[in-house]
Amino acid sequence: MLEKRIVYVDMDDVLCAFSQRHSEIKAAHPEIEYPQSQVGFFRALKPIEGGIEAIQRLQAQPEFEVYILTAPSVINVHCYTEKRQWVEDHLGFSWAERLIISPHKNLNQGHYLIDDHTSGKGQNLFGGELLHFGSDRFPNWATVLQFFELLPVEKQPVKSPQ
Ligand SMILES: [Mg+2]
Repeated sequence: MLEKRIVYVDMDDVLCAFSQRHSEIKAAHPEIEYPQSQVGFFRALKPIEGGIEAIQRLQAQPEFEVYILTAPSVINVHCYTEKRQWVEDHLGFSWAERLIISPHKNLNQGHYLIDDHTSGKGQNLFGGELLHFGSDRFPNWATVLQFFELLPVEKQPVKSPQ
């Protein structure tokens, strides 16, 4: 039987453009100390380029099982609901079954964790391999797909002639 490879994917700044919206609100309303504490903040986040398509592509492979593993903003109780809404808005209802909200990512067992932070929510204690999104090795979703050998041919870097 095929052993499934479990892949966890973070939300903020991996699937959702958290920092972008945070900066926009700060620029427009400097008096707001914590934009992420406002009702509606999490649901309104824009998708990070290529992220939705990438995890759908990964999930479509028989050898991978993809889950969204996101730490909540514990102070903002609306965050829990809005993360669930965001997932349905952008990925459809079936992905709501794949949403795990936990501030202790190390407690989930699996093979890969794609996250823009290497510590703080248990990432450094995760039992599998951490793919540090936003790092030099994984600056974007194309490089993540390349790692999983799923980058579409037309998006692969052009090889120089021998
Ligand atoms: Mg994050």
